[in-house]
Amino acid sequence: MAISLDRSDPNFTKQVAAKSQQDIASCYQCGNCSAGCPAGFVYDLQVSQIMRGVQLGLKDYVLKARSLWFCLSCSTCSLRCPNEIDVAQVMETLRHMARENNSVAVPAVEKFFKSFLATVRYFGRSYEIGTMVLFMLRSGRFWTDVDLAPKALLKRKLGLLPHQPPEGVKAVTRIFERFIEQNNQRGAS
Ligand code: SF4
Ligand code: SF4
Repeated sequence: MAISLDRSDPNFTKQVAAKSQQDIASCYQCGNCSAGCPAGFVYDLQVSQIMRGVQLGLKDYVLKARSLWFCLSCSTCSLRCPNEIDVAQVMETLRHMARENNSVAVPAVEKFFKSFLATVRYFGRSYEIGTMVLFMLRSGRFWTDVDLAPKALLKRKLGLLPHQPPEGVKAVTRIFERFIEQNNQRGAS
């Protein structure tokens, strides 16, 4: 993909460095992170290309990458970086920035995240069928993988009812509420 430095934004580099608390400038493009990334085969930009894009201040190029939404948050890239950059943390920061910038390149993944987190908020742990139903409603994908449900139910990979709530379910719900409150305050200020 041809890239242009005309739209380079040095502030973007500073913001990513500050929000992720990582030394972005120390990346010397060895490619170790990309070589070990288990999701790289579906990425449009490899993770080292994303790091380079951040160094060059290419905000749109980076925040519109589909790779951000296919990242598994496995931290292999962080472990392999010879400069001890927490690359997975940089990816997480970029996902937050893409949301704020309305640049989510794969909305279905974002809808899945939200559906999963909604079940954790209310039940204290994931509830698979609840996640599926919420995802179907949010995405309009009513029939995607629905044929797998009977097999998963038979093998007890899915339960019809939510799991027994953990002792700290109220505390988990409070964490979510506090986070939402802080987000609303940030949006209002
Ligand atoms: S955290 Fe994401 S970018 Fe890093 S190795 Fe895992 S999948 Fe790849
Ligand atoms: S492993 Fe570290 S230094 Fe090498 S390209 Fe990735 S982020 Fe840069």
